[in-house]
Amino acid sequence: MVKQTLRSSPRRDEDDRVQTRFRCWAEIDLDALRSNLAWIRHRAGPRIKILTVVKADAYGHGLKQIAALLMQSGTDIFGVANLAEARTIRHVGRGWPILLLGVCLPEEMETVVRDQIMPTISSLNEAEQFAAIAKQLGQQVTVHVKVDSGMGRLGVSADKALALVEEVTRLRELKLQGLYTHYSSAEDDAEYSRFQRDRFSGVLRQLREARIEVPLIHANNSAALLHEPDTTFNLIRPGLLVYGIVPASAKRTLAIPARSVRPALALYCRVGFVKEIPRGTRLSYGQTFKAPRRMRVATLTAGYGDAYLRSGSNRAEVLIGGQRCRVLGNITMDQMLADVSRVPNARMGDRAVLIGAEGNESITASEVAAWCDTVPWEVLTNITYRVTRIYRGAQAA
Ligand SMILES: *Cc1c(COP(=O)(O)O)cnc(C)c1O
Repeated sequence: MVKQTLRSSPRRDEDDRVQTRFRCWAEIDLDALRSNLAWIRHRAGPRIKILTVVKADAYGHGLKQIAALLMQSGTDIFGVANLAEARTIRHVGRGWPILLLGVCLPEEMETVVRDQIMPTISSLNEAEQFAAIAKQLGQQVTVHVKVDSGMGRLGVSADKALALVEEVTRLRELKLQGLYTHYSSAEDDAEYSRFQRDRFSGVLRQLREARIEVPLIHANNSAALLHEPDTTFNLIRPGLLVYGIVPASAKRTLAIPARSVRPALALYCRVGFVKEIPRGTRLSYGQTFKAPRRMRVATLTAGYGDAYLRSGSNRAEVLIGGQRCRVLGNITMDQMLADVSRVPNARMGDRAVLIGAEGNESITASEVAAWCDTVPWEVLTNITYRVTRIYRGAQAA
């Protein structure tokens, strides 16, 4: 029924044409991204700068297209994990400030200085190496110093931060633009976040006493931006929220207005085969599913080689014909199975929704993450090169 009403609209016809061309594809709504960024800007207020995090192919959305959109929509800085990502952004548009959030390996330092990408500094050793390279090239390098306030990944420890910053300001080839830290549990542990924030604030106090001014101070990822709105310093670093996903937590509830952000990405595949199976039939590798009754089963054209984590086996759900259908048996590399017993008109070629809305139902990346015992970040970055990305919205052309 739902299908027929939808079919009569021109938008649905357009979708149908797309359907016929791919086995597994993602549709990315650029208007959603743009309005998410606008909402974040509104929430943060006019004096706060935004560093949009676009690491891992812009969380699976496609770095080139997303970087272009964010340039048009007024991001202030880009955040990337590695040099390759930074260079991709350089190809999209010149001159944008890019902060390398990950470590810069020794052999990458020269390129980073030449391309004027901003590295993250965690030690005097790194600072001195950058200074030496910059001197050789007759250039300056703009850097951000990272403080490890309790994440334990990169950054100088809080008690040594002042000394490092003093050294960095002494090196003439280095220009200190930012000081930052990163929360480990902003979505679910208020107390630990407060502990981290106090440590970081302690460093800021020391800097003030030493009369060292750092232009950009930042700490907040998406979860911290929602949970700690009063301590945004003067730059925020949202990732997940830009893509329209609220970092959820069972432990910490969030007062965020409905429809503030919306997911930009939907993920689809096709029904490749439909069959009836008698009671007792075993399905897929390892025979982890045995039919408790007579069933209709659809074989779908996506597996873990495309996008879908195998840990969703026997638990995840997909939408077919607007109905929730449970995944049966182990998910395989290229195919997975779904129960279409309640979708009598499901047939070969139909679209299946892995993430997204259809009829009155919708499946979010966070829901998929829960089925797959992981986090929405991994669900998105697990979408592989095999999945065609299609862009919609005003900027898509
Ligand atoms: C990935 C990352 C972010 C963005 O985190 P979200 O939770 O996706 O908002 C911010 N800062 C750093 C240092 C990161 O590595």
